[in-house]
Amino acid sequence: MSEVVQTRKTPPRTDMAPTPPLTPPAKNGKDWKDEQPADINLPDNYVAWTIKNQKELPPITLQNLLQNIQWISLLVLTITPSIAIWGLLNVKLRWETFVWSIVYYFITGLGITAGYHRLWAHRSYNASKPLQYFLCLAGSGAVEGSIKWWSRGHRAHHRYTDTELDPYNAHKGFWWSHVGWMILKPRRKPGVADVSDLSKSEVVRWQHRWYIWLILICGFLFPTVVAGLGWGDWLGGFVFAGAARLTFVHHSTFCVNSLAHWLGERPFDDKHTPRDHMITALVTVGEGYHNFHHQFPMDYRNAIKWYQYDPTKWFIWTMSSLGLASHLKQFPDNEVKKGQLTMQLKRLRETQDVLAWAPEVAELPIISWESFEEQSAKRPLIVVAGFIHDVADFLDEHPGGRHLLTKFIGKDATTAFFGGVYDHSNAAHNLLSMKRVGILHGGHQHGLQDKAIPPSQRLRVARYNEMGSGYNSSAWSDGEGLLG
Ligand SMILES: [Zn+2]
Ligand SMILES: [Zn+2]
Repeated sequence: MSEVVQTRKTPPRTDMAPTPPLTPPAKNGKDWKDEQPADINLPDNYVAWTIKNQKELPPITLQNLLQNIQWISLLVLTITPSIAIWGLLNVKLRWETFVWSIVYYFITGLGITAGYHRLWAHRSYNASKPLQYFLCLAGSGAVEGSIKWWSRGHRAHHRYTDTELDPYNAHKGFWWSHVGWMILKPRRKPGVADVSDLSKSEVVRWQHRWYIWLILICGFLFPTVVAGLGWGDWLGGFVFAGAARLTFVHHSTFCVNSLAHWLGERPFDDKHTPRDHMITALVTVGEGYHNFHHQFPMDYRNAIKWYQYDPTKWFIWTMSSLGLASHLKQFPDNEVKKGQLTMQLKRLRETQDVLAWAPEVAELPIISWESFEEQSAKRPLIVVAGFIHDVADFLDEHPGGRHLLTKFIGKDATTAFFGGVYDHSNAAHNLLSMKRVGILHGGHQHGLQDKAIPPSQRLRVARYNEMGSGYNSSAWSDGEGLLG
């Protein structure tokens, strides 16, 4: 999800073509308040322009690998799990420390999900000062960079999802979006995303200023001291509640960039890679409904159904019940349902497209009664609801017996078919429509639409540009043109 340790601002790259003129970002401290939105002067064709004109760094090879490693990230991401593994092999795990590690995992995880992600990156609710400081400290304990740095990358991820300007571009593979983008120097700068609103926040500025101290205190010192003073387990506190817990928090939140773009369904939109899955939700403190999240990023929820696992949502809701949070944003349910319906229709359309349907009305020849009678002498033709059907391959299959069909060869069986002899099932009507070979000239006047259109074709999935085709009943009202 983010780089592990906040470093100083990357120096401008001299090896890349210049980006369009942008307001230079303020450094730090006093002038933050006056910072202009970073995207205020962006040209309309920013994405295409940048991808075309901004040269990428040369590909990483074995020869240039060492120069392209982000060493601080790599060290944090390797030393932390090494301490955890050493601890598991050499330090007795006390149950108090075990419980504390899990509790602290959720606290620091929520610092990222409820704090960094939903509060600061997406502004999906307002938090009171005490809650902001709590989330800031908890998030610092997850050691994933400062709020400002993290939110800047995450906003770029949402704005340029799956493109070269997305810092965790899922098209570059699972491991790239999980950790690769932090360990290796990116070939291209992330797309511009504005975080000037965060620069105005006292809490964000305070964290940015004391960031190194905060990660040492919240990441390692505090969990160690709690276990040490609480039940005398200093070493256990350090290796389990500190290092092992941090390793889990890292990989669990990194899964939002990797697993959540790789595993599961896309019930709201399939334009991009984000997906919904319960397993992702379980390992990410509730950030697993990522397809919903990318569609409705300012919604304070990830899971919209009560039974789906989203402890971050429950936490924010509880904070609002306690008066510590307010203005919880929810996307209108009507619009959420539109997304779902679109995807459902898309799937139904796929099913519809692989089925065989009755011939299009416009493709059938129009035949006179005389010609119909004449041709019926050579092949078993029967008229039903203005259509001429060839029942040759059905004579022996007819459940009512061959004789009931042969009786109507060369005749109009409309009344008999629709209840005069037997009120046929919808399935029978569907099957009958498959035998259509022509339209009887002038034979359709009495044919009501519900008799002419097979039941399976009365409600169909049609694209906007197909509305005037034979799929649509409006074509039938224009009977003159079709039926002459
Ligand atoms: Zn995403
Ligand atoms: Zn997000």
